Order: sequence, then C-alpha cells, then structure tokens
Amino acid sequence: MSSENAALNELGFDPVELREKYRIERDKRLRTDGSEQYQEVVGDFSHYVDDPYVEKGFTRAALEDQVDVIVIGGGFGGLLSGARLTEAGVGSVRIIEKGGDFGGTWYWNRYPGAACDVESYVYLPLCEELNFVPKEKYTHAPEILAHSKAIGEKFNLYEHACFQTEAQGLEWDEVTKLWTVKTNRGDRMRARYVVMANGPLNRPKLPGIEGISDYKGHTFHTSRWDYKYTGGGPEGNLTGLKGKKIGVIGTGATAIQCVPHLAKGADELYVFQRTPSSVDVRANRPTDPEWAANLQPGWQQERMDNFNTLVSGGFADVDMVNDGWTEIIRNLGSMVNFKGGARLSPQEIAQKMELADFQKMEQVRARAEELVNDPNTAESLKPYYRQFCKRPCFNDEYLAAFNLPGVHLIDTQGQGIDRITENGIVANGVEIELDCIVFATGFEVGTEYTRRSGYDLIGRDGLSLKDKWQDGIATLHGLQTRGFPNCFIISNAQSGFTVSFPHAMNEQAKHVAYIMNRCSEAKADTVEVTAEAESAWVQEIVTLSRLSESFQASCTPGYYNNEGKPNPKSVQNGSYGAGPVKFFKVLDAWREEGSMQGLELK
Ligand code: NDP
Repeated sequence: MSSENAALNELGFDPVELREKYRIERDKRLRTDGSEQYQEVVGDFSHYVDDPYVEKGFTRAALEDQVDVIVIGGGFGGLLSGARLTEAGVGSVRIIEKGGDFGGTWYWNRYPGAACDVESYVYLPLCEELNFVPKEKYTHAPEILAHSKAIGEKFNLYEHACFQTEAQGLEWDEVTKLWTVKTNRGDRMRARYVVMANGPLNRPKLPGIEGISDYKGHTFHTSRWDYKYTGGGPEGNLTGLKGKKIGVIGTGATAIQCVPHLAKGADELYVFQRTPSSVDVRANRPTDPEWAANLQPGWQQERMDNFNTLVSGGFADVDMVNDGWTEIIRNLGSMVNFKGGARLSPQEIAQKMELADFQKMEQVRARAEELVNDPNTAESLKPYYRQFCKRPCFNDEYLAAFNLPGVHLIDTQGQGIDRITENGIVANGVEIELDCIVFATGFEVGTEYTRRSGYDLIGRDGLSLKDKWQDGIATLHGLQTRGFPNCFIISNAQSGFTVSFPHAMNEQAKHVAYIMNRCSEAKADTVEVTAEAESAWVQEIVTLSRLSESFQASCTPGYYNNEGKPNPKSVQNGSYGAGPVKFFKVLDAWREEGSMQGLELK
C-alpha cells in the first residue's frame, strides 16, 4: 500500500475529493444578486415586523426634554451600555426601544425551542452583578428575556426608558453641542451623547421571490411567532397546528430550533432547504446547584475570557465550557500545535486546519446518516462546506424530527424555492399546497447601516451618515465616526466579532463609558475621532481582512461572506480580522496609554 493510500485509509476520506465537492456545492449556490435577493420588510410587508406582544393603541405625550445620554436599542447592547454608563456615573441614561420591553433579540424571538446557542453562563451578561446563574447550560429564551428585564431593574434603566418608540432621525446641533432625537411618537429629545445599539441582526428579511404577495394562506416570520395561530408557547406543544399542512422556508440556526416543534404539532410539515446547516451534539443539562453555589467572585469574566480565547484559536490550560464550540477549535488547534506545529509554515498550518475541519465535518455528516432513517433525506441533510462558513448549530432533536411521519425535507439543491403561489410553494417545479408558511429566512446583515437601523443621522455641517458611509464604513475601533461628535456605535462592523456577541458588546460598553468619563473630567463638550485615526483604522481593517480572504471566497454563500459576494465594501464593513482577543487588547492598551489617541476633545 502506498503511503498516500495509507494516509487516506487512516483519514477515512480523500481531502482532494472533498475539496472538489465543497467547490461544486458552493458554485451551485453562487448568484449574481447576493444580498439583493431578499425582500425588505417595508410597505406591504411591514406587518411582518409588527409587535405581537403589546396591546394595540399605546399613546403617550411627546417628549421635548434633555438627558445626558440616549441609547437606541434595549437589547443586550443597549442594556450593557446603560449598565456600564450608569456604573460610571455619566448622568441620566434614556434607552429608546421599539419593542414593549427590554430584551432586543430575546424580546422578538420567542419561537418554540428558542435557546442560546452559546453556553448561558458565558452568554448571559452581568450574571455576577445580578447574582444570577441560569437554570440550564443552554438556557431557553424566556429565562433570557427575564434576565434582560432584571438588568433593566438592577441598573434603574426603566426610569427613563421609552418603549414602543422608534428613532426616526438624529441631528447634531453645533451651537448647543447636543443631539436631537426624533421618534415616531413625535418626540424631539435632546442629549449630550447618543449610543446606537440597534443590534446586528434586527431587521427580518424575506426571500424576494415571485408570487410572495399572492399567497392566500397564513404567514409569519420566526421573529414574530404567531402563537394565536400555532397554539402552544416557547416550550412547544403547538396544538393549533393539528390537521394543518405547514411549510417552513430556511434551515439556519433559527429553523434548527423550531422545526422539531413544528414537526410534532403539524399533521404535515414541509421543510424547504437551500443549504443544510451543520448540526452537532447539544447535550444540554440543568445547572448543577452545588457548582452554582460554589462559584467564586470573578467567575463569569474568567469563564467568558476562557471561552473567547479558545473559540478564537488561542490556548488555555483548561477548557471551562468544554462543548461543541470549543471542541471545534481544540481539534483545529491540536493538529497545528502538537504535531510539530512550531516549525510549520503558514501554508502548512492552513493545510492542517483544513484537514481538521474536514474531519469535524465528516463527523457532522456521519451524525446525519446515523440519526435519519431515510438514506436520501440523510444525504440531503449533510453540509458540504467548512464549519465556520455558516454559524455552526448544535441540536439533539432536529435531525431525528425527519423520522416523524408527515415530516418532509424538500431539498432544493442549493436553488431555493421557485416561487410562491396563491395556495402554497413551488420547489423543484412541484407545487405543495400549504395552510401556513413560516419564514425562517433570517435577518438583514449586508445592507446599509442606516437602512437596517431605520433612521439616518445628520452630523456636523449637515453630513448624513448614509452619505458618509456610502462607499464603506469608516470609524475608529468601530465605535466613533468623524463628523458625528459625541456619537457611539455598538456593532460588529470594524470591531471585534466573537461567537458570544454580548461579550464584545460588554467590552465596547466599558470603552464608551471610559471615554465619556474622560470627557467629563476634562470638561469637554465634544469628543470626535480625528480624520487620521479614522483612516488608519479603516486601513487596518482592510489589511487584516486578508487573513480570511481566501477562506471567505471558498465558502458557500451566507451572511458571513456577504452572500458569496465579498467585495471591497463588504471587506471594509467587516469585523477586526485579527480576532476578538486581539481586539479587546487593542482597546485595553488604548485606555492604558491614556492620551485618548485619535480623539479630539473640545
Ligand atoms: P439565517 O440567515 O442563518 O438562515 C436563513 C435561512 O433561510 C437559510 O437556511 C437560507 O438558506 C434560507 N433561505 C433564504 N432564502 C431562501 C429561499 N429563497 N429558499 C429557500 N431557503 C432560503 O437566519 P437564522 O434566523 O436561522 O439565523 C440568523 C442568525 O441568528 C444565526 O446565524 C445566529 O447568529 C443567530 N441565531 C442565534 C440563535 C441562538 O443563539 N440561539 C438561534 C437562532 C439564530 P441559505 O443557507 O442557502 O442561504
């Protein structure tokens, strides 16, 4: 046996064949319209973003008052900003929130089965500050929503909050050095500082597909789950679906969690798949009370840092979370580092990483084969791309749901559904009549910031943010942009992206609080990034993006790679390419240096 064959036998797969298979699967899905393939939820589609959780008819008097800080968004980004700013004593903080309460993502997404996909002891922010330990390793949405409200209570953020209120425009006044925030409630509030924490995935999207307005049956998007129609609740038990034929479009992280419940409730469930997700073991479990009782001060930050280091490709003596997320990276890392890694060239490291990725994905594909009875369905459910091309999923019910009678996977071979008719969905040229279509089609990511936030800003000298960022985002640290004094942005763009979003938002919030405090010590009216610092940061973002350029290009389309159309603008709008651990160090070092480098205080 040749040494090459022996190596193949040991691996159990042929890397050359797999690479080719991945390329074929990606090419099937590449399309010229990229992000433009989706339908914006405006006009006739705006009911998809109505709030189903509040009584209709809420009114209040318009506000024309002044506070120190207005934070836009009451999700974890806004709550963390509110908490860190309150702790820092920056003055009165008002959170403006479209929904009827705090929670953001977890306010809107109440679909059955919704749970955090990162360990809850790491994911839920401010656990130690609230002396709180979640009930499960991967806790469910209701507990996360309750925790959001508890943060609001703890930091007194309800006092000034305005719910059911949407910002419609922000304007800077150079004379008074104040921002005016206009809202859909007729408000014209003023503030010294504004913090935009709109959320990275806040605007649901629909497929821009022929016939979508013709359908006469019931429809809704997963982020506005219609329990009046389905019956049941976040724990499932969808009794309203008895006797019904339901279609679900999309098989991303949301669908993976809600499909098992739809499968149990509906007489017939049709899952329309364009690209299968990678679905690995979840192994959720209740929190061990003894462990929780013995946690030492500092436990949560230590655990968050440990997780973040491991999922960013770094090393730690222990793996505290020890789950599917850290396992992926452990495998990749061990191949590179323990097999003579010190002497490997970058190319050899990349090869070994690819091999480890192939091995992991072979396991994921084998799991589909093991858990799904029908061999054709099992084959369709196997993902053929590298694990971090899309958000990896972990679930112990999804694959087995396809064994239930009445559950059908409609594999569209990467093409998506053909069209929607009055009566149902056409896929692979065949019409399937349906009582209800559930859109599990995700959220806008690659579109313009001001389109996703639903408002524009007018900064100094009448400059609008939409115009300023037309050819790409420009910031320092993703947090401030020139021409818009006293304005801060909490987002992934040009900032540190980590799989546990709240971790990054916490670091950003601490940084914003530091800057505001320094301004107040210096009695400065305004703080603004210099042109030089901004262009240097943009350059750094673009340069570092090269680290992942070829990986992104080889990936199947999705929102991680601008729907398969990476371009200079999407590169510039991306996150910090050297990873979150390095990014957090950049922020720490900047604060330690102490001179407020790159900012002008006046
Ligand atoms: P995604 O964008 O991940 O998924 C959208 C799905 O719709 C994809 O499967 C996509 O297919 C499919 N789709 C789009 N257009 C069509 C079409 N024309 N025909 C057929 N299928 C179509 O959205 P999700 O809501 O699932 O997840 C978004 C993100 O939210 C996740 O990546 C994750 O970051 C976060 N999330 C976190 C959770 C948690 O913490 N618990 C749970 C759920 C979500 P294709 O892949 O081919 O584009």
